Formats: sequence, C-alpha cells, structure tokens
Amino acid sequence: MGQLIKGKAVADAITAEVKNHAEELRQKGTSPKLKIVRVGQREDDLAYERAAIKRMASCSIDCEVLSLSLDISQEDFIKELKKVDQDETVHGVLIFRPLPRQIDENAVKYIIRPEKDVDCFNPINVAKVMEGDETGFPPCTPEAAIEMLKFYNIEMKGKNAVVAGRSMVVGKPAAILLLKENATVTICHSKTDNLKGVAGKADILIAAIGKSKMITGDFIKEGAAVIDVGINVDSQGNITGDVDTEDCIGKVSVITPVPAGVGSVTTAVLAKHVLKAFNQLTGK
Ligand code: NAD
Repeated sequence: MGQLIKGKAVADAITAEVKNHAEELRQKGTSPKLKIVRVGQREDDLAYERAAIKRMASCSIDCEVLSLSLDISQEDFIKELKKVDQDETVHGVLIFRPLPRQIDENAVKYIIRPEKDVDCFNPINVAKVMEGDETGFPPCTPEAAIEMLKFYNIEMKGKNAVVAGRSMVVGKPAAILLLKENATVTICHSKTDNLKGVAGKADILIAAIGKSKMITGDFIKEGAAVIDVGINVDSQGNITGDVDTEDCIGKVSVITPVPAGVGSVTTAVLAKHVLKAFNQLTGK
C-alpha cells in the first residue's frame, strides 16, 4: 500500500521560512507586496485569490487585488498593467489566465518586467527557466510539484520521469524542472500514442491533463511516485484530480491527493517568489 503524501506539511515549511524573512524586513520598516490582477469573476480565479490572500497574510507579505471588468479593452488593460509594473511598492505580480478573448496575450506578456513576474508569464522568465538561470521564476504550480518530491525525499536523479500534459503553465515547465534535478524526462500529451505504455515505465509520474481520474492503476509502474496536479470537477460536483487515487494507491510508493495535495503548496511557492522578487529588486 502506497503512502498518501499531503501538501500541508510542505506548504507549512515554506510558509515558516518565508514568514521569518518577511518579518525581519517588516521590523526594518519595509515589506514585500504581491499584486494580483484579475479580469472578471471566474470562480476558480476567485478561489485561488482567496487562498493566495490567506497565504500572504500567514507569510507576513502584503497583498492587493486589482479587479478589472471582464469587458476591459486591450488598450485599457495595457494601461493598468503598466501602472502596476511602475508601482515601486509592488514587488510581485500575478495575472490570472486565461485572459478574455479581446486581449491578445502576445500584446501584454512583456509588460510586467521579468523581475516582478512571479508566475512566469513573461517569456524572458520562460527563457531563464530553460537556461537554469536562478534569477528567473518558474510557474508556481510545477515548482510546487517539485517541492513535494523534494520534501518527501523522492530521488529524481537518474529516474524515469513522465509528465502528462504540455501546457506552458504546468506540463512543459514541470519537465524542465525535473530535468534540472537530473531526471530522464518524457513529455506526453493529447497526441501521444499509448500513454499507458509510456506512463507505465515512469518512476515518477506528474499528471497535468485536466481529465478527472483518467490515470488508473493500469498506467502505473509498481512503486512509482505519482504527483497529481489536476484539479477537475466531476459530474457530482466533487473536486478530483487527474489520477484515480483509490485505484492507484495499491501500486504506488507515494501519491498526492486532490484536494490537499499540490494545490496547497502552490500559494506557498507564490509567497516564496514574492520574497525573492523583493530581494532581487531591492538588493536586500
Ligand atoms: P491545459 O488544458 O492547458 O493542458 C492540458 C494538457 O493535457 C495538454 O497539454 C494536453 O496535450 C494534455 N492532454 C489532454 N488529454 C490528454 C490525454 N488523453 N493524454 C495525455 N495528455 C493529454 O491544462 P493545464 O493548465 O496544464 O492544467 C492541467 C491540470 O492541472 C488541470 O486539471 C488544471 O486544473 C490543473 N492545474 C492545477 C493547478 C494547481 O495549483 N494544482 C494549477 C494550474 C492547473
């Protein structure tokens, strides 16, 4: 029987470390600040926003939300982003995506300077992550997946790691981060032939597909570590992952639950990034 590894302990450890540093800064009369930019009122954005506000408070990091109307024009959106970028009291900026249709991501993704871009929207940060440049910011979710593996002492070096999903926010950066840890990495996607066969050779499987409980026990190698990044709502309205945990737990060594897995670590990584952005911007 495999072990269910939860996110809380990982998030608590990161939170404690960030809080320590942020409180030291506060005593010196300064503090890191996150600005969240939300367009519209999507329920998943609002849920993440609530979690992020709570996490920043427990890390002693300031947090503000810029809530913009769903029908904002691209021109006005650009003006708002430029103001946020130029605001010297703001150190980290998180922009919820996807943006509404009238806004072309290509026209806005360079506006927030890479030093403040704490969730890897700006392509300069993407390049830094590819290069292994430590001043860059990987997206928080795949970094949270790696933090889970590190915290629970799962060896990545030399292991076969399979990432299911190739999005810019999860799959691709997760693969790059695994490579940085010296894993041998395969990326699978919707056009992959025989996902079951490929996943079945993985010592580490990261699922970031967006399909409720698609990964069942027959996709899993005996003793694998399984990190479930998926957040889905099933037909009964329950939050589920991409992995059928009950079906897999007999085969895995460790597996993350959904909810209470990777998702709970993501906001802690976000807080860590805001502190890092503050340090890099101010030289403190
Ligand atoms: P996405 O829709 O952008 O990408 C899904 C990926 O899955 C694509 O690359 C696609 O090729 C691949 N895919 C689809 N069907 C497949 C199949 N049958 N076999 C193999 N690959 C297949 O989604 P995303 O933004 O990358 O998010 C993935 C999942 O992670 C979603 O459930 C999302 O809700 C969740 N998510 C969680 C967090 C978190 O904090 N835990 C953050 C972001 C996203």
